[in-house]
Amino acid sequence: MQKPELLAPAGDLIRMKYAFAYGADAVYAGQPAFSLRARENGFKNLDDLAEGIEYAHRLGKKFYLTSNVIPRNVKVEAFQNALLSAIDLKPDALIVADPGFVGWLREVRPEVEIHLSVQANTTNYLAAKFWRDLGVSRVILSRELRLSEILEIKKRLPDLELEVFVHGAVCMSMSGRCMLSNWVTRRDANQGACDNSCRMPYRLYANPEPQCENYQEHVGEFRLQRTDRPELDPIALDEDTWGTYFMSSRDICAIDVIPELMAAGLDTFKIEGRTKSVYYLSQVVRAYRMAIDSCAAQFEQGVEPELVKVSEESRRAISFVDGRGFMPGFLRGPLPQNYESTHEEAAGGCVAAQVLSYDSNTNSFRVNVKTPFSIDDSLELMTPSGMAPCKVSAMKDFKGADVDRLHPGTEGVVFLQDCDELLSFKMPYSFFVRKIT
Ligand code: SF4
Repeated sequence: MQKPELLAPAGDLIRMKYAFAYGADAVYAGQPAFSLRARENGFKNLDDLAEGIEYAHRLGKKFYLTSNVIPRNVKVEAFQNALLSAIDLKPDALIVADPGFVGWLREVRPEVEIHLSVQANTTNYLAAKFWRDLGVSRVILSRELRLSEILEIKKRLPDLELEVFVHGAVCMSMSGRCMLSNWVTRRDANQGACDNSCRMPYRLYANPEPQCENYQEHVGEFRLQRTDRPELDPIALDEDTWGTYFMSSRDICAIDVIPELMAAGLDTFKIEGRTKSVYYLSQVVRAYRMAIDSCAAQFEQGVEPELVKVSEESRRAISFVDGRGFMPGFLRGPLPQNYESTHEEAAGGCVAAQVLSYDSNTNSFRVNVKTPFSIDDSLELMTPSGMAPCKVSAMKDFKGADVDRLHPGTEGVVFLQDCDELLSFKMPYSFFVRKIT
């Protein structure tokens, strides 16, 4: 069996390096003005892109240029010029959403590989065939499809590469073509400026004039009921300390569906989240890397497809990151999306520090502290190859003073008692210290 490609988000060069260190086969990244990530995007100019593409190719990996903005007339020319310059850097493919741009690229740069963005909302085999016949080599399917629908498209079009989202946030609209953010904050989601309005907390106030003095908060339990359909279940407006999240969807986690997606011969498994932290990215990439590799090994050993299972270690890696609560997306059917979720903490611990460098003479790490931790805490070291307990003998703060506790937002040095087995993990951009709680 050919292993599917594991495709990870790269919000900047550092994230890209972590994604590769933890097992991604390819990354996607784009220019702020022309991909749907206008803010918090580290690929600000052609030099950044050139460095990313060159780094990926040096490792024998791939770099896809996300160019999936939905341009208005005024942006067309600038977008064309930006694409022509970026194509010269030789990314492995362009991810494009706008049909006009797909047609134009086929004319002016027929040699360039085009992947059709999820923003183009491909939901059936006729649409997929249309894009294939136009010269698109890969279609990124809508996140809202069921597994059976995806399998049918693959069966009918075996020569077309299909990419599916396996992990990350989903929109409450159909894969992004949404105006909610425009309405709430005047930030256009279709130009990459979405402010995640659907995922933010909302509060219900008694007074319709928010600026007036007796602006009152409702206290209690509330339900939203469609008045013309009293038989429908009311939507709960449960509040936590921040507010209610009734439009916020749970995140996709398709780790348990990996064996079926692999058995169907799907080509690429995509992880969402160009703004996620390097820790989140590393753990999620590691989880799917382990899942793909262990399922591939089982298929190779002749295990019956319905008996192939994802390991507990893969699931555990997912549990190490925060999220909005997980669901298998729409793969298992139409009902799992849940707009009441808010935030679920990672299980059994949290990231204590990101390791910046290792000094073998003193057996110490220079770290960037993420959450406070003490010399006596139970700690473990997370690396691309696995995890190992980590005993600390001494600590120094950013001024070089001996301390027994390090604080977030600072750098420090952590001296290890014993870590012989860890010394083999000397890759840059790869270590974390995790605090076990
Ligand atoms: S507001 Fe929510 S649904 Fe709309 S584009 Fe942004 S994330 Fe997606």
